[in-house]
Amino acid sequence: MHDLVIIGSGPAGMTAAIYGVRSNLSVLLLDRLAPGGQIVNTSEIQNYPGMGTINGAELAIKMYQHTQELGVEFDYLTVTGVTPGEKGFSLTCAERPDDPVEARAVIVATGTTPRTLEVEGEDRLRGNGLSWCAVCDGAACRDQDVVVVGGGNSAVEEALFLSELASSVTVLVRRTMRADPASCDRLRSRDNVTVMEGWNAVAFEGAACLESVRVRCAATGEERQIACQHAFEYVGLEPVTSFVADLGILDDAGYVVVNSGMGTTVPGVFACGDCIEKDLRQVVTACSDGAVAARAAARWLKNA
Ligand code: NAP
Repeated sequence: MHDLVIIGSGPAGMTAAIYGVRSNLSVLLLDRLAPGGQIVNTSEIQNYPGMGTINGAELAIKMYQHTQELGVEFDYLTVTGVTPGEKGFSLTCAERPDDPVEARAVIVATGTTPRTLEVEGEDRLRGNGLSWCAVCDGAACRDQDVVVVGGGNSAVEEALFLSELASSVTVLVRRTMRADPASCDRLRSRDNVTVMEGWNAVAFEGAACLESVRVRCAATGEERQIACQHAFEYVGLEPVTSFVADLGILDDAGYVVVNSGMGTTVPGVFACGDCIEKDLRQVVTACSDGAVAARAAARWLKNA
């Protein structure tokens, strides 16, 4: 039985772990994948104070090392359910379904996963030119033609990264760009970047590998074919929270509803980071949420 089990080891979960051990709690940090969450797939982070410009994976490693220096226990486990009991919570895990993890308090910090467009050719060409991770697959784009779909911060930042390698980058934005104006300006100023606002990707085409993206103008219905060898989807995120749906703590979109102390309606269950209902999803706000959640959990445990 751990005092506190944190599910998800992105910036929110790792910060909660740091604050948890510093409150003298026994803390177990769980993740189905390597620590870091979404930032592992982020080429450049420019708005985490004190770090200047830093590669996302590098920042993830620094945060993880910090947790290890303070004695946080980490394990690779995929939590599939959280069941409240008399003394705390039983966390069922896919890797060992008959041996649940026991916790007095739980913090859900499972973040989000990239949304898919659900258009023709997407499943077939996934991994054959179509990707959701420029950091992972960008190297193959050197001197090639690339399409990026989306107009949020992820699309714009990864399009900037890809524009340093590719011969051309076409950014498809279904309405207008919603990323930070400074990043949008940087993108538009690149000679090899074309931003097409008001255009949707309607099909990914190619026999064995991606050869083109069929696009449609939202206003006129006009269709065009953009030849490319690589395409990246950055069309938003979905919360990774289905494993706590039974607790009744999610909103209609699947985000965890929390109070100002990151507490949910289930005593002893807290949540933080991108998986909660909130306005600003940034590394710095995830870390802030994590600190608040861990302190609230420590206080709750003291009075439990
Ligand atoms: P996002 O901000 O939700 O943007 C999603 C983009 O995809 C929007 O342009 C949206 O268009 C478009 N889109 C959604 N569904 C679509 C569809 N079916 N077809 C075509 N386009 C579609 O997602 P994100 O860029 O992944 O960012 C997620 C969160 O992380 C945001 O809060 C963001 O600010 C944050 N983030 C921050 C940083 C940073 O500050 N350095 C970096 C990355 C991400 P509409 O606008 O028309 O809906």
